[in-house]
Amino acid sequence: MTLANQPPVLIIGGSLVGLTASLALTTAGIPNITFEKHAQISAHPRAMGFTPRTMEYYRSLGIADQIPQAPADFTLLRARRSAQSPTNPQTPPAKPTFSSLRGAAIPQDALETILSTTALSRGADIRRGWTVLTFTQTPTGVTITVLPPCSKTPTAITGSYLLAADGHRSTIRGQLATPLSGIGHMQTMRSVLFRADLSPLTSDITQFEIDQPESNSLHAFLTTYNDHRWVLMFYDDIHRSEPDLRSAINLAIGRDDIPVHIITTGRWDLTARIAERFHHGRVFLLGDAAHTLPPNRGGYGRSWGEG
Ligand SMILES: Cc1cc2nc3c(=O)[nH]c(=O)nc-3n(C[C@H](O)[C@H](O)[C@H](O)COP(=O)(O)OP(=O)(O)OC[C@H]3O[C@@H](n4cnc5c(N)ncnc54)[C@H](O)[C@@H]3O)c2cc1C
Repeated sequence: MTLANQPPVLIIGGSLVGLTASLALTTAGIPNITFEKHAQISAHPRAMGFTPRTMEYYRSLGIADQIPQAPADFTLLRARRSAQSPTNPQTPPAKPTFSSLRGAAIPQDALETILSTTALSRGADIRRGWTVLTFTQTPTGVTITVLPPCSKTPTAITGSYLLAADGHRSTIRGQLATPLSGIGHMQTMRSVLFRADLSPLTSDITQFEIDQPESNSLHAFLTTYNDHRWVLMFYDDIHRSEPDLRSAINLAIGRDDIPVHIITTGRWDLTARIAERFHHGRVFLLGDAAHTLPPNRGGYGRSWGEG
């Protein structure tokens, strides 16, 4: 049997890592089907920064030219702005470079669109709105039960291998009972994603650590997806009403006269965990299903995805 005639590889999860796997297999001529439980790409992007190594991998898949690399003269500038002191930009020491490519700053939803559009154009089968429930495996194949969109009747689909790219709460890893090691849960954070033109205020600085102890105790991180979408990440797990979110945004930007459109909110668990095994027979764990990285390790969870 040739690779092109074998039963498809079944990919669970159609986010960054599952879509990358679909694109890689499709480009290599290996049949595959991706099942993603959500009908649409998430309205709240998470990742924005991608390493040169990730760009090298995307170059091998022929999509690096669709992803804008950081400019050659890019300089990292970070500013700490508190209620008491003015903005004080600082430039960390330059890091040595090891690649002919530079890292990229692209919102996760834009990158997922590139991955999925390219994979589909090369013949991939990506099924959105399909939820995988269980799997069984034999020495020769893997069978999943999956709920198609708007259906209450699971259907069985058999493939050659199963790639579980179903995130840090991986159903497949749970079914395998794969032990996890590492520090575990570190913090739960809340966020509000909003659209606003802050360019007159920010002097092209894109990340702000905000510590305003005397103004309703706002301790948060403000960053942008570079398309007038900003995310304010709260270092706490407090539910805020829309008026409270608006107050916090105004406090963070130091103005209450800038039009702000709230897009959505998020709640994120920061964890450091790694599965003790990445494969069991014909089942492989990929991306966050295999390991999660907290921001103090660079937060490059996606960039580890194809490792
Ligand atoms: C706030 C934040 C910022 C981040 N910034 C960066 C960054 O700048 N750079 C970086 O490299 N990483 C970053 N990360 C980490 C990065 O987002 C993750 O490492 C990456 O999204 C992992 O991709 P994944 O495809 O493995 O899992 P996920 O993105 O979690 O995707 C899993 C997918 O599987 C689907 N799924 C789950 N169960 C099923 C099922 N049973 N059936 C069908 N589908 C299912 C889910 O709907 C989901 O779409 C950040 C994370 C957070 C929270």
